[in-house]
Amino acid sequence: MEDLVALCKRRGFIFQSNEIYGGIQGLYDYGPLGVELKNNLKNAWWKSTVYNRDDVEGLDTSILTHPDVLKYSGHQDTFTDPLVDCKSCGLRFREDQIPEQCIGEELTDPREFNLMFETSVGPIVDDSSVAYLRPETAQQIYINFKNVIDSTSRSLPFGIAQIGKSFRNEITPRNFIFRVREFEQMELEFFVTPGEDEEWHKRWVDERVSWWIDQGIPRDKLELLTVTGDDLAHYSKSTVDIMYQFPHGSEELEGIANRTDFDLGSHTKNQKELNINANVMENNDSNTRLAIQNENNEWIVPYVIEPSAGVDRGVLAIINEAYTIEELPDNKKRTVLKLKKHLSPIKAAVIPLKRNNEDLVKLAHDIKTSLQKFQIGRVVVENTGNIGKSYRKHDEIGTPLCMTIDFDSLEKNTLTVRDRDSMEQKSIKIDDVKQFFMNYFSDESE
Ligand code: ATP
Repeated sequence: MEDLVALCKRRGFIFQSNEIYGGIQGLYDYGPLGVELKNNLKNAWWKSTVYNRDDVEGLDTSILTHPDVLKYSGHQDTFTDPLVDCKSCGLRFREDQIPEQCIGEELTDPREFNLMFETSVGPIVDDSSVAYLRPETAQQIYINFKNVIDSTSRSLPFGIAQIGKSFRNEITPRNFIFRVREFEQMELEFFVTPGEDEEWHKRWVDERVSWWIDQGIPRDKLELLTVTGDDLAHYSKSTVDIMYQFPHGSEELEGIANRTDFDLGSHTKNQKELNINANVMENNDSNTRLAIQNENNEWIVPYVIEPSAGVDRGVLAIINEAYTIEELPDNKKRTVLKLKKHLSPIKAAVIPLKRNNEDLVKLAHDIKTSLQKFQIGRVVVENTGNIGKSYRKHDEIGTPLCMTIDFDSLEKNTLTVRDRDSMEQKSIKIDDVKQFFMNYFSDESE
């Protein structure tokens, strides 16, 4: 983990947030390369979850959330962790995460600590201005259920996908970006006919495992854990966690829950109780509002299967898998980030042999511009004048292709392409470089 943290800082993937003022625990910033990697991961999820299917719509909702949403979802009462204090050193921590120095010491009885961040909306601060930063993106999907079906005419089964920030005031944030207070989730709420839920639950577990494999996580580093007993969330009929062997141990990367009709049912019932939108309910000719008509025109509250993945935990797992130290034949070592090419922050580096040769540098910029037009991802000109150093840097940040422009490029219209993993170099015609680049990036499934 220390090596990963150091690489992430040195190369500009991830920084401690608010660092110049001493930092805030549990917050991280994504640097120039981190933002690319993170966006690539989110895009891969969006493509496979929304674009490559015919039964999912997307959504992007507000982060600030009405307190009633979280009251009726159960979060106000139950989204808590047990907090204890060590009577000898005064440290506070989660009951199930006792720091080494407190093992065997006398602890206070656990108190339930709510993980939600509260704020207020508008200039007057009173009870009616309270809002929360959402602790999961899911609730806003449920409360938009009717908007989505009315505007898209969907029928079951179908899903609503969202990627966005969530906030949890974790008692003990730790293990780099694994457990943080502000993070991103990729969540799908997949609505199904009750009775078909268990089958869909299994299907989604399989889908999600194979997606992580496509992102470069080997199957044997993943483990499926069926959550039982007290660990099962208040809304869940059954949950399967995809566990990954992080550097600090095997922990949850994604959870796939069968949330039944808990959330839609609860928001429906309570709207009725509060007499909100009673009109709409009557027009629906139904006792329920967050419901959908089946083929027999009966109103039903669907069950929901929820695959919920953490973007930050995904980034950590992917960097951890890709991080490789290779022995070279000349007894030297190289660090190489063997990222899947669709995830690499930089797709190609164009390197002029000499930094102050105007013709070489201009040609490098022209090639960069022509490749950038494909919008496959970022292409850079690496104008350091030191080919060896540029190769080392781009190996370390996972750039799949380096393209060197030398004097042959000017005379014979060729350039040298070097492959990150095999380190093989070959000469190709500059006229063919666009085709080569396109082919190279189109032969990988995402
Ligand atoms: P944990 O038991 O590790 O606290 P959880 O079961 O509370 O996680 P869920 O509520 O199932 O997590 O959230 C879905 C996903 O969101 C998790 O699988 C994880 O990838 C991500 N996630 C949850 N909490 C955090 C956090 N504090 N920091 C980073 N990612 C998180």
